[in-house]
Amino acid sequence: MTAENQIAKKIIEEIKTSLLVQKKQIVDDLNDISKTDIHEADNRGTQFPEYGDKPDENAQEISDFSTTVATQKILEKSLEDIDKALTRIEKGTYGTCKYCGKLIAEKRLMARPTAGACVACKTELQEND
Ligand SMILES: [Zn+2]
Repeated sequence: MTAENQIAKKIIEEIKTSLLVQKKQIVDDLNDISKTDIHEADNRGTQFPEYGDKPDENAQEISDFSTTVATQKILEKSLEDIDKALTRIEKGTYGTCKYCGKLIAEKRLMARPTAGACVACKTELQEND
């Protein structure tokens, strides 16, 4: 195995640092969302008797709630991806495609540090989808 078959340690260190920063940010965001949820639930409780009188407001309320849930899901998925990437770094398998085992381009990893598949496999998967 030559140096060309491995992602440079320096790049992995940089990616690891940025992943840890991102992870902290996401955990903070998720904490903010759960705080907001509790606050909104309190408001809903006190306003409940009038709730549903105006269909437009009702729809807006549901839409706001869906957005929060959607955001939370996206953040949780990102957190999962980051954790997987960090695990791959620990195991020393980071930077290789999980489908074909080939090296993922450094440029792709720099742009998308959580990528677990090379461009070729990713493209193929999307086409099959
Ligand atoms: Zn691949």
